[in-house]
Amino acid sequence: MSETLATASYIGATILFILCLGGLSNAETSRRGNLYGIIGMALAVVATIFGPHVSAAGLAWIIAAMLVGGSVGIYASRTVQMTQMPELVALMHSMVGLAAMLVGFANYIDPAASANLGSAEKSIHEMEIYLGILIGAVTFSGSVIAFLKLSARIGGKPVMLPGRHWMNLTGLLVVIYFGARFLHAETVADGMMPLIVMTVIALLFGVHMVMAIGGADMPVVVSMLNSYSGWAAAATGFMLSNDLLIVTGALVGSSGAILSYIMCQAMNRSFVSVIAGGFGSDGGKTVSSSASGEPAGEVVPISANETAELLREARSVIIVPGYGMAVAQAQHTVNEITRHLREKGVKVRFGIHPVAGRMPGHMNVLLAEAKVPYDIVFEMDEINDDFPTTDVVMVIGANDIVNPAAQDDPGSPIAGMPVLEVWKAKTSIVMKRSMASGYAGVDNPLFYKENNRMLFGDAKKMLDEVLVALKS
Ligand code: NDP
Repeated sequence: MSETLATASYIGATILFILCLGGLSNAETSRRGNLYGIIGMALAVVATIFGPHVSAAGLAWIIAAMLVGGSVGIYASRTVQMTQMPELVALMHSMVGLAAMLVGFANYIDPAASANLGSAEKSIHEMEIYLGILIGAVTFSGSVIAFLKLSARIGGKPVMLPGRHWMNLTGLLVVIYFGARFLHAETVADGMMPLIVMTVIALLFGVHMVMAIGGADMPVVVSMLNSYSGWAAAATGFMLSNDLLIVTGALVGSSGAILSYIMCQAMNRSFVSVIAGGFGSDGGKTVSSSASGEPAGEVVPISANETAELLREARSVIIVPGYGMAVAQAQHTVNEITRHLREKGVKVRFGIHPVAGRMPGHMNVLLAEAKVPYDIVFEMDEINDDFPTTDVVMVIGANDIVNPAAQDDPGSPIAGMPVLEVWKAKTSIVMKRSMASGYAGVDNPLFYKENNRMLFGDAKKMLDEVLVALKS
């Protein structure tokens, strides 16, 4: 493939990636967006492999690597459960970081990479390598820790080392110092030591940064690492002089940054305080809504039959899904109940919290999979004012996102996080298996409210029973 054709393909792929992002911003156009992304990526891969920069010998390596990577990808996509998607995504981000690191080292060692460069160009090239490895290492180790936290292999509570901000600052200064030494190194051997020291510091920083972030802030971490992986890819693009990789990385990096901003807004948190860490540090403590220290009120259980009865009599119902719906894979039964109620003339809508589940858009994906119509699915801001005029709210496996302590208890670890005000409805029904807390590890006073009922059990099993009762 000639240089011109490869460049034209790259421009085509770039346009398709932008169309892909545009499509993914809306549930109704997301399938089309995905398709643009797939075509763009196929075009990019073909143009790169058969482009002017790959030799015949290199081609064999690339195809072998693609076969291995493709097989792992197919295996993972077939076996990974929907609930494991967030951790899979974190793992993939770590791979982008690792790739940026490895490319950086390979690029530095390879004499051909800087053979024809003048002194200014060589300095720029080395700066690209230094920054590329730095971003890659932070992304790699941070994403591995995020993976371990999301898969509950390590605890979600923030690890707050004494003097951690000073440690970070010292690390930054050391990285800058070794950066200067690296740029002034005469030979590759001389430059290797500063490069390795910086890599170790960056790896430790990534671990420290994500370890210090509390459970409730993990949504921001996931989107932030998504952004970092984009910048790591862009850095790789600079090192390899691949324009498409630079553009694609920048697209991922900036869209991830925008998503982080949206997540911060959704949780009423400033980005800096998330990075500084510690939110959710009181995880696990009981949030009290009474002076005695225990949540006030009594927990009133309800049966599936009684739930069906309440739904049958309701004129308007709002369904609030959370992580438990994903665990139980209850979305299809939810859709059937929705269809049944709507056929009976009940107004049914869905209220989606921006951080419901374990990844951005988690609930929207599940509802779309179950073919719930898009026009009855509303964002938190669009539906929060409607709870007082709603007869029944069904909270399906959600907990933190409907916790009134976020508004009422300034001492709560989730204080200030906007929540779906389900307790304002005539009756709220919470479906979960026990009184256990959610991801942020805080007790939920909603369960004790007078107008709240608890339908205990696996969400899928209980909803199946509700459906049978509704139809009988
Ligand atoms: P939560 O984690 O707060 O609560 C989920 C509830 O589901 C649990 O209390 C659990 O209770 C219940 N549950 C689990 N399995 C089942 C089941 N099979 N059937 C019925 N219920 C079940 O989830 P939310 O969606 O309310 O909130 C999301 C939380 O996750 C927030 O704290 C958010 O910050 C965090 N987070 C979000 C990310 C994102 O990007 N969206 C990323 C990382 C974290 P029980 O065990 O009693 O059944």
